[in-house]
Amino acid sequence: MFEGGRNVALFLFKNILLIICLLIKCLLYLQSKTITKTKTMKTFEIIQTESYEKNEDRTYSNTDDAPCIRCGKAVKNEKYYVECVDGGLEALSTKEQADYDDGGYMGHFPIGSECKKHIPSEFIHKH
Ligand SMILES: [Zn+2]
Repeated sequence: MFEGGRNVALFLFKNILLIICLLIKCLLYLQSKTITKTKTMKTFEIIQTESYEKNEDRTYSNTDDAPCIRCGKAVKNEKYYVECVDGGLEALSTKEQADYDDGGYMGHFPIGSECKKHIPSEFIHKH
């Protein structure tokens, strides 16, 4: 009696795990589909500097300013921004309209005036 109940529980548990795995696979598939959609838009990959993480830590612990997306140093007077898509450091051209519903849409990030020089002006938003 008790043994049978345990088998049923085990059976249900295994099936639930299987269903969860399938759901995760579906979600990942849908996300990859929406992300490839923006790949057709014009983007520019921002390469972060080697000291990015060190600078970012310092910015967060010493200031209220946001870190520059390229070097991680504090941006005192936010003036320039990049709009990131594809779930990472892909800056979208200012000529393109971002898809805000896209799973990979990241939003606007400040960039310092020095780092701005390393990125074509087509990808820089002025605020
Ligand atoms: Zn910077």
